[in-house]
Amino acid sequence: MDFKYVQTTCPYCGTGCTFNLAVRDGKVTGTAPYYRSPINEGKVCPKGTYAWQFINHKDRLKKPLVRKDGKYVETTWDEAYSIIAENFKKYQPEECAVLSSARCSNEDNYALMKFARGVLKTRHIDHCARLCHASTVVGLAASFGSGAMTNSIPDISESKCIFCLGSNTFEQHPLIGRQIMKAKAAGAKFIYADPRFTPTARQSDLYMQFYSGGDVAILNCMMGEIIRNGWEDKDFIEKRTKDYEELKKIVLLERYTPEVVGELVGVPAESLRTAAEWFGKAESATVLYSMGLTQHTVGVDNVKSTANLLMLTGNIGIPGGGVNALRGQNNVQGSCDMGALPNVFTGYQKVVDGPVRKKFEDAWGFPDGIAEPKNGFEITTMFNVLHDDPGRLKAMYLMGENPLLSEPDLNHVEEAIQNLDFLVVQDIFFTETCEYAHVVLPATCFAEKDGCQTNTERRVQRWRKAQEPPGEAKEDWRIISELSAVMGYADQFPYTSPEDVFNEIAELTPSYHGMNYERIGTPEALHWPCPTVDHPGTPILHTEKFATPDGLGVFHAIEWKAPAEVPDEEYPYRFTTGRIIWHYHTGSMTRRSKALDDEVKTGWVEINEEDAKELGVRNGEMVKVVSRRGEITVAAKVMEDIKKGVMFMPFHFVECAANRLTNNALDPLAKIPEFKACAVKIETI
Ligand code: SF4
Repeated sequence: MDFKYVQTTCPYCGTGCTFNLAVRDGKVTGTAPYYRSPINEGKVCPKGTYAWQFINHKDRLKKPLVRKDGKYVETTWDEAYSIIAENFKKYQPEECAVLSSARCSNEDNYALMKFARGVLKTRHIDHCARLCHASTVVGLAASFGSGAMTNSIPDISESKCIFCLGSNTFEQHPLIGRQIMKAKAAGAKFIYADPRFTPTARQSDLYMQFYSGGDVAILNCMMGEIIRNGWEDKDFIEKRTKDYEELKKIVLLERYTPEVVGELVGVPAESLRTAAEWFGKAESATVLYSMGLTQHTVGVDNVKSTANLLMLTGNIGIPGGGVNALRGQNNVQGSCDMGALPNVFTGYQKVVDGPVRKKFEDAWGFPDGIAEPKNGFEITTMFNVLHDDPGRLKAMYLMGENPLLSEPDLNHVEEAIQNLDFLVVQDIFFTETCEYAHVVLPATCFAEKDGCQTNTERRVQRWRKAQEPPGEAKEDWRIISELSAVMGYADQFPYTSPEDVFNEIAELTPSYHGMNYERIGTPEALHWPCPTVDHPGTPILHTEKFATPDGLGVFHAIEWKAPAEVPDEEYPYRFTTGRIIWHYHTGSMTRRSKALDDEVKTGWVEINEEDAKELGVRNGEMVKVVSRRGEITVAAKVMEDIKKGVMFMPFHFVECAANRLTNNALDPLAKIPEFKACAVKIETI
């Protein structure tokens, strides 16, 4: 018997835990601890423990599929490439769109970005970060000049006060929850705000059960209290920031006093006062947030408000401080870093910047040029254009995304995608989106390829190949390179390994310039920015100055605004969505992992027990949840843990897809949809 351990990185959440894959006779058969990672120190959560179970599932795609007479038939790679090449040749660059993926490696995302801009010459490329942390990228860039988590995961344990809002950390990022427990053991206070009394709430010292959408009001209220009591860091404000006076005028208004805000968001005024005092007086304090904060029509305002709080209290650039935006999927940070966005090349270098564009044109060497220097469509805009302006977008290439379950307002998305003439989907399983594809290409999963990802704290970490892929499946970067060669661009995609791709990324990207496979292959890996080969990486950002042109942090005076859709007589309940510890995103991997699937087989709607009584709904009873956009039938979970007037559903389950109900209203700057707040009614069956 042949047996080995292969050290790699978890393919699920943005924490980026390291573990070993156990490989017996060439097949992955389990996971085992890897103790030297500073993030998880040998521990993993249930998803990580069973991350091996989907790898050899019978449903894996093994050969390219092409749709003929309404049925999918297996074909050869050569025929699949030639069909794709012939079809894309028919369309103008403006008619083509590309969706990349936060589940794929940095090398995969870079290759697809280069394919979009260089081969298809389209500016329309985006990916699912738009749906989770686009607000972070825009908001933190406006405040600090850099749209990324400021401190490291281990650094959270150094904090003396942790304020977590819009993140059920102990379920969604359990190994980050462990850092919170370490901080608490050392005496830190833990404040938590969420409409549901989650496992994270159980660990908190102060819990505020607020109405989703009240974030700016809470943050302004806390800042007003901090200023009134003289707990602000005057020296930091004076030396390192600007526009403080505008902020001060707003947060000291009567409408942000604890009494008024408490009434608005459904939290006792005393809790708001205590939160402000603990945060304002702490030696070091940090904010952790995730999609409860970002997925709003005011997502950017919410993020800027967290930045305001941290600058007000001087908690930027220090251990135990910082704005710690917790990314959902494993490589959300990396896929953004790789330029799988409509406005930037790698490392957030703008497509409209002349010298930057020339650098990429020269390095890539496409004889017929690249996409025009103009920002493209965001993923949400792509589906709106497809729906409202049929014929403007005609062909789409999609890698590792499943918008037919992950986008808001699924009925709208289903209508939109049918307006495409040609759709290619590259994935490891036949997802809900594959059902609309003309060609489906089988890709490899994390255990079948070398490469790297960048976790939520900007740490660039290695993936290592543990087994051969099933059937004829290939690495995403290789598929894109081979297709590009068929389309006449072999010279631009000369890669023989992912390391070749990474070296090109490092060459063109200042923040990755000092990285190579040897350096990122250590247990600690490397945090960007890492500009030179002898640079140690940067676990804490903005220690001396911000990344803004003048080096100053920018305060933004922000007023609270209500969600785009609020309860009324017809739809009287607030509706919000989220994830659970056992499942990941649209469930294509975790629902094919027996141990995880055995734990939770399907979704539910959480209803407060008083609401249930008024509605006459019993626990476990099937009910219809209806919004202005759709309806689903699902089992009711009656509980006291959810705030009265609020309903919650996990979004992983196609048979009761929460996104049939969610609202496609967008933040005007980040174009992120408002998954976290809309209005529904309950009908008994
Ligand atoms: Fe994987 Fe996240 Fe769990 Fe770590 S916390 S094992 S990265 S799912």
